[in-house]
Amino acid sequence: WANAPLTLRDIFVAGRAHGEKTFLVYEDERASFEAFSRAALALAADLIRGGVKPGDRVAIAMRNLPEWPVAFFAAILAGAIATPLNAWWTGPELDHGFTDSGACVAIVDEERWARISERRAGYPALKRVLIARAPAVAGAESLTDIVGAVPDWGGLPAGEIPALAIGPEDVATLFYTSGTTGRSKGAIGTQRAGASGVLAHPFSAARAFLRRGEPVPVPDANAPQKVALLSIPLFHVTGCFATLVPNLSRGGRLVMMRRWDLARAMALIARERCTSAGGVPTIAFQLLDGMAAGTHDLSSLETISYGGAPAPAELVRRLRAAFPKAQPATGWGMTETSGTFTHHQGEDYVHRPESCGPPLPVCEARVMDPEENPLPPGEIGELWVKGPVVVAGYWNRPDADAEVFREGWLRTGDLARIDEEGFVTIVDRAKDMLIRGGENIYCGEVESVLYEHPAVVDAAVVGIPHPTLGEEPGAVVAIARGAEADEEGLRAFVAARLAAFKVPVRILLHDEILPRNPNGKILKNELKRLF
Ligand code: ATP
Ligand code: MG
Repeated sequence: WANAPLTLRDIFVAGRAHGEKTFLVYEDERASFEAFSRAALALAADLIRGGVKPGDRVAIAMRNLPEWPVAFFAAILAGAIATPLNAWWTGPELDHGFTDSGACVAIVDEERWARISERRAGYPALKRVLIARAPAVAGAESLTDIVGAVPDWGGLPAGEIPALAIGPEDVATLFYTSGTTGRSKGAIGTQRAGASGVLAHPFSAARAFLRRGEPVPVPDANAPQKVALLSIPLFHVTGCFATLVPNLSRGGRLVMMRRWDLARAMALIARERCTSAGGVPTIAFQLLDGMAAGTHDLSSLETISYGGAPAPAELVRRLRAAFPKAQPATGWGMTETSGTFTHHQGEDYVHRPESCGPPLPVCEARVMDPEENPLPPGEIGELWVKGPVVVAGYWNRPDADAEVFREGWLRTGDLARIDEEGFVTIVDRAKDMLIRGGENIYCGEVESVLYEHPAVVDAAVVGIPHPTLGEEPGAVVAIARGAEADEEGLRAFVAARLAAFKVPVRILLHDEILPRNPNGKILKNELKRLF
């Protein structure tokens, strides 16, 4: 697989073979694999007619609409670089996405059009804008004029796949990092890196059976269709590479939500009999609330998976208790690893709830000290990773390339330890770790303890500047509605479980879930200001 001649175009071809089975579900709209394929081919042909050349960037800036996967695969089939932009971005952030990528075409929804219509004069490379689900307006064409509305996709002519030379090493995607630690960077993904997720999951699932000495189940071609609730944005690698792409290739149905909403999610899980749901840990916590409310039948769920942000060990215990039939699964990854890089599920996860699992097969991970020497198992250092899912570099950022790429390895900026059996545990982002008078404090460790408190539904630890110690830990926690907790009680709870220097000197109680960016990451800089 490390050298597999696999491309995202191959994924498209595999998806098309699922024919009239339902692929995309959005509100009351349904599109089969064949209908989706016709729409993507019609748009690819139109992009080529409009002058898109291999290597050109085609920006996609919209919420999770059925047009998103159509735009993505149309760009790929036209040999272009699919460039998803974050739908939560404001005008100035979109300016960065457009000018940095130099996109020549943008495929947008109405909300993104409203944000860029006045600003696009500042994007000299942008020649064409297509708006989904809207008529043409001055300066923008209608995507519906090209592919029709969703029910019409099946009636489009059966197009041919453009005859272009596309190889596994060709650049296929430009996904932007979340911008948690600085300005968002474009990560250059190859065809193979984007397609790799389809191999990763069956391999790592098989390994989990083999580790337990159990036979690997053979996939049953007649098994009922898997139905995934897609609640994470497609502009994030987890939505695209860990959900859309594998479901397309294996014939799974994708139930799309324009934005996350618990009540809506529960209604969809019950209506569509979804077999998997999840996204970021916050979503898993909310599903626990939903299950407790007992308003919907969530018994179809077989998997609840999440990653992308720290998942406290407590989460897997609570999920196990609330959803006895669903397997919790987690993983670690970054935009630069095209999504999942470690994967953890089932009994392995229950027994090692702090870990995010071993690296995917054919991927490697190691932990390094600040002098860039490998550390033995169990020691904490910077996580370095390698494998076919790792991107080729950053777009327009030779400085960032020089900082993180080392002879095929990627320095992740995350602090981790790896045990004797290869299970990785993330302890903190290097930039989040606090040093209090020379003692290291990993925010994640303190947050996990706070989560063990029954009243705590959300927790973040941040550094509070101190004149002589450097920094001291402070915490912001959200308390469950109706639960009792106060600062002193919470400090005592932590003090009973962790060394005194790790106990937050102040704990602020917050009555809502903590502020996060679209990828589920707590906005720690905003919380620091509260102190
Ligand atoms: P930027 O690189 O622009 O500052 P970002 O690192 O948040 O933003 P992403 O690529 O979306 O952008 O996120 C990757 C990061 O998310 C990882 O480096 C890690 O810090 C965090 N992360 C992902 N999965 C997990 C996990 N399972 N546990 C803890 N942290 C995780
Ligand atoms: Mg990062």
